[in-house]
Amino acid sequence: MKLSRRDFVKTGATATAALGLLSAPYLARAASHRVVVVGGGTGGATAAKYLKRADPAIEVTLIEPNETYYTCYLSNEVIGGDRQLDTLEHGYDGLRAHGIRVVHDTVTAIDPEARAVDTAGGERFEYDRCVVAPGIELLYDRIEGYSEAAAETLPHAWKAGAQTALLRRQLEEMADGGTVVLVAPPNPFRCPPGPYERASQIAHYLKGHKPKSKVIILDSKQAFSKQGLFTQGWERLYGFGTEDSLIEWHPGPDAAVVRVEAEGMVAETSFGDEIRADVMNVIPPQRAGKIAQVAGLADDSGWCPVDKRTFESSIHPGIHVIGDACIATKMPKSGYSANSQGKVAAAAIAALLKGEEPGTPSYINTCYSIIGTDYGISVAAVYRISEDGATIAPVEGAGGLTPSDAPDWALAREVQYAYSWYNNITHDTFG
Ligand SMILES: Cc1cc2nc3c(=O)[nH]c(=O)nc-3n(C[C@H](O)[C@H](O)[C@H](O)COP(=O)(O)OP(=O)(O)OC[C@H]3O[C@@H](n4cnc5c(N)ncnc54)[C@H](O)[C@@H]3O)c2cc1C
Repeated sequence: MKLSRRDFVKTGATATAALGLLSAPYLARAASHRVVVVGGGTGGATAAKYLKRADPAIEVTLIEPNETYYTCYLSNEVIGGDRQLDTLEHGYDGLRAHGIRVVHDTVTAIDPEARAVDTAGGERFEYDRCVVAPGIELLYDRIEGYSEAAAETLPHAWKAGAQTALLRRQLEEMADGGTVVLVAPPNPFRCPPGPYERASQIAHYLKGHKPKSKVIILDSKQAFSKQGLFTQGWERLYGFGTEDSLIEWHPGPDAAVVRVEAEGMVAETSFGDEIRADVMNVIPPQRAGKIAQVAGLADDSGWCPVDKRTFESSIHPGIHVIGDACIATKMPKSGYSANSQGKVAAAAIAALLKGEEPGTPSYINTCYSIIGTDYGISVAAVYRISEDGATIAPVEGAGGLTPSDAPDWALAREVQYAYSWYNNITHDTFG
């Protein structure tokens, strides 16, 4: 059939009108789905990326003050001297390439009624759903004499970056024969094996460069993550349990540090002992990141209760809290957990925005710890939600610990697995 110009215009107009009828509501719906992600660390960056993957029509805005993110994972190797800090650096261009709007600003308020967040830069972002992933707040004042200012002398190095570099520099400047005091935090805290991997990495450095020195862990706890494997490694590598040990571990409650003096470099324990240090690494108690407190998302524990299936806040509907800040019951506060939770929350949000029922998720975590040269250990688990929805618990048989009789080649391989894991997770999160 041949169309005259008049027919063509008429048919075209009809088609356009028909298309208009179809497309108007579609466009309106597509544009109305806005998700604002607060915090561009491991959890927030993963959630933003996987939201876009689940539904490219969702407008995803990620708000994060820093242009560079330094991973805490593998930062203990920087402190031990085997790695440079810049190998832990990640920017946000990868997320921008996925169509995510990245805004470098700090969120100062979240209004769950108006469904909007406000920033220090004076902007307001409205959302249909919000993801909050601010990590942790360090509770300096829980230890007398400790403060953000004192951390410039007694670094925590529990948020990677300048603090990591500071602790490394102090170790380099310390004379042989010096004492490093590591103050380990009470539960729950970011990265349960982290303080003990750090002590291992410090001992690794001392063994090679300052063998008359030692690291003393003053702990508020009586037990810690992967304890059997850590102490076995310390015995093999650092003489743990002998007179010349490079590592001493003093358990709580007696060794819990209640006061520190930055000028005198002294730590006082609840037992009343005063220990003098040449370098002091104070990792204070923690709770969910400050914005979670300001927004009323945390309960009396200081952490944020959530629906375990969707990570939607049990306090403020429409806001999902993931990563270290949330209460994920048996899942540890780790980067891998934050990544896994970011994916679960993204899938749930995409479903909820479409009016669909979220699926039943499973979750995953592995934590590697590098104790010394060619000596790594790990713990791995797959998690499921309990029938009543109250707990995220490990699936029996789907994971485990490095065996205590693992041969040397297997321990060396764990270190390579740790590096491989790092490349994978950072690409998955920021790439
Ligand atoms: C020494 C050490 C070693 C570790 N090793 C491992 C390991 O081997 N494996 C592992 O899985 N995990 C490890 N972890 C733990 C891991 O780093 C954390 O669990 C993980 O980073 C948590 O992710 P998150 O997204 O909750 O918080 P973060 O990664 O800390 O991200 C929070 C982000 O929110 C931003 N933010 C905060 N407040 C605001 C606001 N008001 N507005 C906007 N943005 C805001 C912050 O700038 C930050 O970028 C380690 C931790 C430490 C300290």
